[in-house]
Amino acid sequence: MACRIGIDLGTTNSAAAHVDIDGKPEIIPNCEGDNTTPSVVAFEDDAVLVGRAALAQAAVNPQNTVMAIKRHMAEHSYAVKIRDNLYRPQEIAALILRRIKQDTELVLGCEIDEAVVTVPAYFNTAQRAATREAGEIAGLTVRRVLDEPAAAALACKLDEEDRMNLLVFDLGGGTLDISVLRVARGRFSVLSTSGDNHLGGTDFDHQIMQILRRRFEEHTGVGLAEAGPVAAERLREAAEEAKKNLSFKEKTRVSVPFIVPSKALSLDTTLTRAELECECGPLFERTITPINEALQFAKLAAADIDAVILSGGSTRIPKVRTIVSEIFGKEPLARVNPDECVALGAAIAAAEGTTRVTFKTSRTLGIEIKGGAFSTLVPRGSTLPMATEKSYTTSFDNQSVISFPIYQGESSRAARNVLLGEVVVDGIDKAAGGSARVSVTFAMSTEGILEVVAKDIRTGRNVSITLEGAIMSDTERVAAMERVDKLAEKFE
Ligand code: AMP
Repeated sequence: MACRIGIDLGTTNSAAAHVDIDGKPEIIPNCEGDNTTPSVVAFEDDAVLVGRAALAQAAVNPQNTVMAIKRHMAEHSYAVKIRDNLYRPQEIAALILRRIKQDTELVLGCEIDEAVVTVPAYFNTAQRAATREAGEIAGLTVRRVLDEPAAAALACKLDEEDRMNLLVFDLGGGTLDISVLRVARGRFSVLSTSGDNHLGGTDFDHQIMQILRRRFEEHTGVGLAEAGPVAAERLREAAEEAKKNLSFKEKTRVSVPFIVPSKALSLDTTLTRAELECECGPLFERTITPINEALQFAKLAAADIDAVILSGGSTRIPKVRTIVSEIFGKEPLARVNPDECVALGAAIAAAEGTTRVTFKTSRTLGIEIKGGAFSTLVPRGSTLPMATEKSYTTSFDNQSVISFPIYQGESSRAARNVLLGEVVVDGIDKAAGGSARVSVTFAMSTEGILEVVAKDIRTGRNVSITLEGAIMSDTERVAAMERVDKLAEKFE
């Protein structure tokens, strides 16, 4: 039997879900029985570790461990160097996805043929394409790349609403993503996004670790730096554990025996929620600006938001919930676990086959014209699929070639945006500058595949380019698939 699943490919943790035979979405635990798998890959001599085992050895083997690869998706020049091998971000992400595919196949007892993989709403075409590539390299048919906030809303069954504005507050391990969505007649569209790429659970862990470090050093007179990386990692784990406990309790005991085994030095202390809130105060403060920005971009006030969804493990922190409730004057929805809602929504989209998400362009698309200016063809937020045409002219006398560099971004200067490709029309009849006319058509599918056609209007001659956003060539992709297949044989 073949199955379809939804995968939340997260910066810190990933999760998979499916819709069971009774039509109920449910998380598929991994082979260790956990509902989420750390998005961490580690390379050893004869083994490749993914998930909890990779995270556990990260502190003592940082040079062979890759974390938070999602931050680098589609960065052209980025590669991870491990023992003289270079890995593209898609390959590392593919190893995580392959592990999830394998675990899921074992747990469900069926072959996974198709998946919906989620991405942040702000991901551009290239980042979405790189995510799709990662899925394909992992051996999955990626049915759709779906926006995370739309998935969270699907999981909360908000697609059943007639018309409403909703805000998804997603605070995970490493990032804060705010998205404002509109639901109309059962369809979603993303109105705006904002966030902080460097704010998440690990920052809270770090702050709590500072309290623990101070107490350890005061009690023992030994600096943590002297105690070594294993001691620091044990303290970090204790800090994260304490943070999680303080989401449910006002007070928690932190005991880390034998932090420095040779000297029999331990830590035994008590932390309160009030201490956490005080130490992490500036971090909580930083969540407010992106909320206001997202509202401003969507031209809405807090009072216009009908529902707030919390997503991401760090939204279990009571103070985060309080901040959000105070801003919106209402309690966030609590229908689904915040660290599972994205995967559950992706599973619903995978099972439906169609999706009721209205696809919009996340970035403005256009071409570079005379003087380096950026001429917009597809404004940000345009509904897909779409097609649009504009005509351009030669800049100087007897110009026989016009090139149209295609860019994506919001700057009025083309060079400040991201170059996606170029179409070049040659053989233009010699004439005075400004007299020849070339039309440029941009057509974009719901998948974000952009076809650009430039046509010499007098001769009808045309040149086209299709930008799937694919980062790898076919040869590179096949090589990556073979490499991931080989590495997957070493999974432990
Ligand atoms: P995610 O990326 O959504 O899986 O979120 C991961 C982050 O959520 C990690 O930093 C976890 O420490 C954090 N987290 C998970 N459970 C809790 C909890 N009960 N209280 C506070 N933070 C949590």
